[in-house]
Amino acid sequence: MEPLVRLIPLGGLGEIGLNMMLVESGDDLIAVDCGLMFPDDDLPGIDYVIPDFTYALAKPGALRAVFLTHGHEDHIGALPYLLKRARVPVYGSPLTIAFVAEKLREHDLPDVELRAIRPHERIEVGPFTVEPLRVTHSIADGVGLAITTPVGVIVHTGDFKLDPNPLDGELPDYEAFTTLGDQGVMVLCSDSTNVDRPGHTRSESDVGVALGERFEVAHGRIIVATFASHIHRLQAVLRLAARFDRRVALLGRSMERNVRVAADLGYLTVPDGVIVPIDELAEMPPARQVILSTGSQGEPNSALSLMAAGDHKYFEVGPGDLVILSSRVIPGNERTVGRIINDLYRRGAEVLYEDNAFVHVSGHASQEDLKLMLNLIRPRFFVPVHGEYRHLLGHARLAAEVGLTPDRVFLMEDGAALEVTKSAATVVGGIPAGRVLVDGKGVGDVGPVVLRDRELLAEEGMVAVAIVIDVDGRVVAGPTIASRGVVYVKESEALLEELRLAVSQAVAGMESVERRDREVLSERMRFTVRRFVTQRFQRKPVVLPMILEIDGHGPSRLKEA
Ligand SMILES: [Zn+2]
Ligand SMILES: [Zn+2]
Repeated sequence: MEPLVRLIPLGGLGEIGLNMMLVESGDDLIAVDCGLMFPDDDLPGIDYVIPDFTYALAKPGALRAVFLTHGHEDHIGALPYLLKRARVPVYGSPLTIAFVAEKLREHDLPDVELRAIRPHERIEVGPFTVEPLRVTHSIADGVGLAITTPVGVIVHTGDFKLDPNPLDGELPDYEAFTTLGDQGVMVLCSDSTNVDRPGHTRSESDVGVALGERFEVAHGRIIVATFASHIHRLQAVLRLAARFDRRVALLGRSMERNVRVAADLGYLTVPDGVIVPIDELAEMPPARQVILSTGSQGEPNSALSLMAAGDHKYFEVGPGDLVILSSRVIPGNERTVGRIINDLYRRGAEVLYEDNAFVHVSGHASQEDLKLMLNLIRPRFFVPVHGEYRHLLGHARLAAEVGLTPDRVFLMEDGAALEVTKSAATVVGGIPAGRVLVDGKGVGDVGPVVLRDRELLAEEGMVAVAIVIDVDGRVVAGPTIASRGVVYVKESEALLEELRLAVSQAVAGMESVERRDREVLSERMRFTVRRFVTQRFQRKPVVLPMILEIDGHGPSRLKEA
């Protein structure tokens, strides 16, 4: 029988994040990445979204291993949930594996086989041979994968950019990509995230230079907020601090953890004595202070939010201070980040961010880089990956520009599979795929992470409860209740009205300061609904509290779903 290999995206094709791709040959499966996605505003009460593992776990023992391209959450974040259901070995570069190890410790998952592999090491798993290939990205130690299968070689780029001058000197492996292209690649899966951007993505080193110019003229405290996983950016800041005889305090748990992990493994060089404890830094003159902080997305309770609000224990931001938001604002966070920027300005600080200064570059390839990758690999078939439909389509069009005829380009989304033989490829459908919602870690720190997947939704139903409050914590509209699969609305309008009243009373009984705290408010709404439904219907539905805050004090209309 002619060999057949199937490429099965469980996530990342049709959305940004949630990246997971299966490669199947006979009864064997391997996965490329296992990422999560942070939910949109339309899924309140949901902490994470993870891929649907149904297909990967359908045949016991079929899933042989997970190969990771890099350590970003949208590539490793769903691993604990997969590993709880199937203990398969996990392969990745040393830094990626170190990040995963920390994560599994937090999820209390020991005994997972974690294997650090380096570029050009070839790993055989069932009918596959997997070889990592160095790429550059906004996290250190990223790789693409060359997967040799019974029908030929599949190249998956992972997330990548082609940085000609990476901070750690680890260039993308142009040679390996070229060689693979010469030898013949059956399928290329390539990162579509930045397909809308013309030209080339600038080098990470350019940001280091730009930040250096700011350090050179700064007279007061410098606060840099960035992603804790952006090891190269952290490196640039640490070097600059040493060069300008400043000291650095790390703020944020993930910042401390990642610096420790990356430094231990040699991915980060910490100049001697440059990092000091927070209280020690606070005693120094502002001109010697650098604060390296998380919170660039406006996360509440992050050091940056606290400083902007004037609530930080050690540092009061004021005139002369320079705040650099050295990161992209993830869509959906603009309003919160905007609020922080305003507050920092109000305190007299100078604020630099992506829109008003060159303080950040993307970790993803732009159009010319993507074309270069296509030209190096010259694949028989091409599948754009990592993007919403518009990005995938844009990448398919780009492929046409470099000469790939439409019959060789497959625009597919999660739930489809590409069937590849030695001579042809076709898309088939019908793979269970979708977004599985993960709802919190329970109240308090103990207890297992509760995974409420779609089975639960189907069995126990869902109740959504929405409310609109103003800045003073006053209820402007609602609560309104919508339910699916819990009770037939027609027969029980009275019951739903009773539930609505119960929520209304529970909310009215709260202090306005409690109502202003989203977490407290949503927990109260959730609790009230759950208790009511359990008592009346003996069911435990998924409860989705939705809180809409309006900026002013006026009335507002509640958006109907
Ligand atoms: Zn990434
Ligand atoms: Zn990604």
